[in-house]
Amino acid sequence: MPKHACRATLALPTKGRGGYSGAMRVARTIGELTRARAALVSGGRPLALVPTMGALHAGHLSLIAAAKRRDAAVAASIFVNPLQFGPAEDFARYPRDEAADLAALREAGCELAWLPSGSTMYPPAAASVIEVAGPALLWEGTARPGHFRGVATVVAKLFGQIRPQLACFGEKDWQQLQVVRRMVHDLYLGIEIVAVPTVRAADGLALSSRNQALAPADRALAPRLYTALAALAASLADGQPAAERTEAAAAALAEAGFRPDYVALVDAETLEPLPAARPPARLIAAAWLGQVRLIDNVAVC
Ligand code: AMP
Repeated sequence: MPKHACRATLALPTKGRGGYSGAMRVARTIGELTRARAALVSGGRPLALVPTMGALHAGHLSLIAAAKRRDAAVAASIFVNPLQFGPAEDFARYPRDEAADLAALREAGCELAWLPSGSTMYPPAAASVIEVAGPALLWEGTARPGHFRGVATVVAKLFGQIRPQLACFGEKDWQQLQVVRRMVHDLYLGIEIVAVPTVRAADGLALSSRNQALAPADRALAPRLYTALAALAASLADGQPAAERTEAAAAALAEAGFRPDYVALVDAETLEPLPAARPPARLIAAAWLGQVRLIDNVAVC
């Protein structure tokens, strides 16, 4: 059978909580999703959505674990969203491994895997997008024009398709989390957004699907981004002016071999730059190593 031909419900048991032990349903069309969703919500549990672009790792699986801790039925989506990639970005090279992803989702106790096609998400007649401003205009929004428009649009579509009560997002993508929160608030979507702490490798590097593309020497260097942020966050907690110290941290990363885009102290919700730390503050950074752009962030106070 061709790899993508299987339309049937997969009858492998998931590790259910609260007495539930069903099969993970795999839906690839809106019709399949409608049936699978109906079966899932018939048990009365809240429905949680975990949106992903696949190439799943322990960070993604921690989102599923967070949803399960809330006794929700968990739906995960896998869709590499073309609308959030710029023309010069890595859409074509983005890692894809559907079989491994489905196995990982099943093992994590996910109950519905939603794998829409590009034409389901963006049919030719589609004429609506979500425009985002505020926290979407800075940092990643500047470095990647249109990125958050693509993120907000696909997340809004996924919310409309799955109609979850809650949705889990990683703190790894801090700005994305704030953009999604803002959208849910602004559009009265009534979905609880659950923020899940960043899962890191033992050496501190935030797990990311893109880490696979790091050359070995760059992979060895990569954890310095986190160690630099952690040290800077501790120093900025004194509330003294931040600019010189964030600039020095960026210069030290450049000296080490990174090409930093930014290291910035920001308001944790609006993403506006802060002259000095005060709650809620976040330290955010983006830096290139070879062809890989790493982003990371830590709490300050
Ligand atoms: P992605 O597949 O990169 O679009 O990520 C899907 C979701 O997983 C987003 O909410 C990310 O913030 C989250 N995520 C990615 N990496 C991590 C990580 N290391 N720890 C926690 N969440 C993560």
